[in-house]
This record gives sequence, C-alpha cells and structure tokens, in this order.
Amino acid sequence: MKTEDTNKWEYAPSLEGTKHIQLKEKYDLFIDGKWVKPNADRYFASINPANEEKLADIAWASESDVDLAVKAARRAYVDVWSKMKASDRAKYIFRIARLMQERAREFAVIETLDGGKPIRESRDIDVPLACNHFFYYAGWADKLQDAFPNRSVESLGVAGQIIPWNFPLLMAAWKIAPALAAGNTVVLKPAETTSLTALKLAEIIEESGLPPGVVNIVTGHGDTGAAIVNHPDIDKIAFTGSTAVGKLIQKATAGTRKKVSLELGGKSANIVLEDAPMDQAVEGIVNGIFFNQGHVCCAGSRLYVQESVADELVRKLKQRMQSLYVGNPLDKNTDIGAINSKEQLETIEKYVQIGIKEGAEMFQVECEVPTKGFYCRPTIFTNVAQSSVIAQEEIFGPVLTIQTFRTIDEVIQKANNSPYGLAAGVWTDKGSRIFNLTSKLRAGVVWANTYNKFDPASPFGGYKESGFGREGGLHGLEAYLK
Ligand code: NAP
Ligand code: MG
Repeated sequence: MKTEDTNKWEYAPSLEGTKHIQLKEKYDLFIDGKWVKPNADRYFASINPANEEKLADIAWASESDVDLAVKAARRAYVDVWSKMKASDRAKYIFRIARLMQERAREFAVIETLDGGKPIRESRDIDVPLACNHFFYYAGWADKLQDAFPNRSVESLGVAGQIIPWNFPLLMAAWKIAPALAAGNTVVLKPAETTSLTALKLAEIIEESGLPPGVVNIVTGHGDTGAAIVNHPDIDKIAFTGSTAVGKLIQKATAGTRKKVSLELGGKSANIVLEDAPMDQAVEGIVNGIFFNQGHVCCAGSRLYVQESVADELVRKLKQRMQSLYVGNPLDKNTDIGAINSKEQLETIEKYVQIGIKEGAEMFQVECEVPTKGFYCRPTIFTNVAQSSVIAQEEIFGPVLTIQTFRTIDEVIQKANNSPYGLAAGVWTDKGSRIFNLTSKLRAGVVWANTYNKFDPASPFGGYKESGFGREGGLHGLEAYLK
C-alpha cells in the first residue's frame, strides 16, 4: 500500500528470525585458547540498542588479564606461529574464513542485535566483507616475499588491537587477518557496546584449531584498551576509533618501540557538480550519510552542491528521505536502524540542537520511531556556515550539513578546510573533473560517482587528524611487517 501524504510504500514487517543463533548468558575472556574468568570477576551487560534488552554479560578485563593475554600471545609467537611454515599459517586463516561463511547468518543477526544496524547491512555488507578480508589475507600469507619484492620481510611479534563499535566484526577482520597473515599473534579488544561478534569469532577460532594464544580476545572498557596500549611487551598497536583516544595513544606510545597505526575520525565531503546525474547522486548522498545510521568514519557528512542545481538536489533529497524506513533493525525493510548507544544518541541530539542554535535550517523526516530503544530520524541542515560546529565536528549519526559553492576552486578549498581527511565523494559527468578534484582533495579515499564502497584489496586510511597508516590491500599487510 502506498500512503498519499509521504509517497511511501507501506510494507508488512519482515523480521529476520533469531532462533538459529546461540548466545551464552555470560562471556568470559578468550585467552590462550581457553575461556577464562576475569581476575577481578567483573562483568558488564551488552544490550540491544533497538529495545534496550540485555543480551549477555561480558567479562571486563583488567590489567592483569591483559598481561595474561599478552604473555600467551608472546609464547604462541615464539614457540609456534613464527616457526610455522607460511603455507600452514595460510590454511588456518582460510579455515577461519570458511567457518565464518558457514555461520554468516548467525553473525549477521548477532551483529544487528548487539549494534543496532539494519539486518540487510550486516547480512550483505559487514559479514561478507569480513569473510573476504580473511580470504584475501590468507592468500598473501605464503607470498609475502612476492608482495614485497627485493625486500626482506619479517613479522613484528605481538599486536595489540583496539576497535570501535560501528563495524564490530568487520573491524576485527581488518585487524586480525593481516596480522596473522604477516606472522604475528594478536590481543584484540572490541568496543564495550559491541563485543558479541568478536566473541563469536573467538568460538570459530577455537573450532578452527588455531594454536592457543595466536588470537586472544579481551573484552572491556577504555581502561582495558589503555592496558593493551601501555603493556611493555607489545610490538604493534593498531587502533581504530576516535581522534581523542588516538591522540592519547600516540602520547602513550611515543618513545617506545611500538609500531603504531591509527584509523581515526572523519568529516568527509561529498561534492555534487552541476553536471552530475542527480538521481544517482541523491542515492549516493543517502548511502553516504544514512547508511549504518551515519556511524561510519568515512560518512559523507558534509554535502557541497553547486549553486545552480542546489534547489533541485535538496528537493529530490528530501523526497527520497521521506521514503526511508526507520525502525527495528531486524526488519528486512529497515533502512535506518538503532543508534548504537544511549550516549551516542545524546551526542547526536546535542549536535542537532547546536545546529539549530547556530541558525541553520533543519529538515527531519516525520516518521514514527519505536518508543523503546535509541532512534534518530534522518536529518539535514541547509543554510550552514563553513565555520559552524556542525560542519566542522564529527557527529557520527544520520545528520548531514549542506552547503553550496560556485566554482571548483571554491569547493576544493571548503572541502579541505577540515581537521580531518578520511574520505570524499565527487559526482560529475566528466572524467577530467574527477581527476582534477581527486588529485586536490586531501582525503585518503575519494569515490567518484559512488560512495561507501569497500574492498579488501584496496587500502583505506586518512590524512591529518584522521590518522595514519593504511588498512586493506598490501599496505595493510605492510603495517604488520618489519
Ligand atoms: P573510541 O571511544 O575512541 O573507542 C574506540 C576503542 O578504544 C574502544 O574499544 C574503546 O573502548 C577503546 N578505548 C577507549 N579509551 C581508550 C584508551 N584510553 N586507551 C585505549 N583504548 C581506549 O571510539 P568509538 O566511539 O568506539 O568509535 C567511533 C570513532 O571511531 C569515530 O570517531 C569514528 O570516526 C572512528 N572510526 C574510524 C575508522 C577509520 O577507519 N578511520 C573506522 C571506524 C571508526 P570502549 O568501547 O570500552 O570505550
Ligand atoms: Mg550492544
């Protein structure tokens, strides 16, 4: 049925089943191939942000637990993993990839329950991409010398890895797969609100027969992460998260032997030129900022549209926004699921208020959202000044600022006027304009006539305060090698 006022189709709910998934009531730490209780016997609840119900209790690792994990990783590195034939290491990584694939539906449902993202995304994007990362790096494990010809390559040792909540399983894959392929062992900490798929991955790792201690999963809060960063026997810190924590990590590791890579925040510009295919651009804008509730480091959160087509584009964008479905993430019709946590929802709402106070004009889709759980309607701001807070700071939610420009030089200047430099998008009919813009934008990734496309073979990472080091592709492998 199509409602007349919003031009929106009404679909019957189509809920993904949850009967096939298995969750324990309580999760311990995965250290040295075993499930061990945290020393301080502390646990915290992981909740479903779509309805605020508790899913499981998760162990909160303290410094002494992290120490145990690092010691296990060191032993496994020295005694087993670094001595193993590379082709045998590859077999384990392939096995993990295949086991993940076999349980893809279970992973997708748990990712959605724990993090709030629409099931369509976890099923079609997060989980397949995570599997592909393991497959991709498994393929390189016994070809390191071919990957870096005329250089002698050597693993680093023990890698400490800390990941955020926006792509929990995918970030775990980005971290673990290249580290193992390069011959390192791992201590990984998932984000506090989304530990469950990393713990499921630990179950698969157990099933794969990977030697004990090669991968250790320690769950916890920020202090658990800090214990990893400060542990003296770690050779490499790989961090994905906020710029604020990234700066703390940089300070803590300065002057140590630790090799560091930081994937941090963003405020990416999505640029629409007057010759762009408008309907396609609208889809790209929607995908760029509303995908995963805007919980995307490289979200196209600043839209720059050429003045001559601004009215048309904004009109089309508003119309498209009206047809987005906000609600239960387990429903296959849902486009925009739940915000990951109450804190994040409050942060987003704070920025929306700032935008209003700054005098920008807000448009928010008028739709019903569930009363229980954390939800945010897709929001755009027009009439935004370049210097305004909402155009400068990362909001990490489904909130888009829109500005106009007249000339290419002007938009390059505006797009680059940001402390961040993670990604950008360019929409135009002309190849020459794409090349001109992409070469001048200070961003790690620039998409042309598309947005938010990822592939294990292509490197990803930022400029400026978006961090340093690259993940994915051969660059991602290099980050784990001497
Ligand atoms: P966050 O607060 O920085 O947390 C990231 C991870 O670091 C979490 O596991 C967190 O644990 C841990 N942590 C917190 N304080 C720490 C400390 N002092 N020392 C060591 N670890 C610590 O970031 P977030 O809010 O989870 O994630 C959102 C941010 O990640 C955004 O800024 C986004 O742009 C960025 N991000 C970047 C990329 C990229 O590739 N560039 C990809 C995804 C996300 P707790 O969860 O327990 O606090
Ligand atoms: Mg949760």
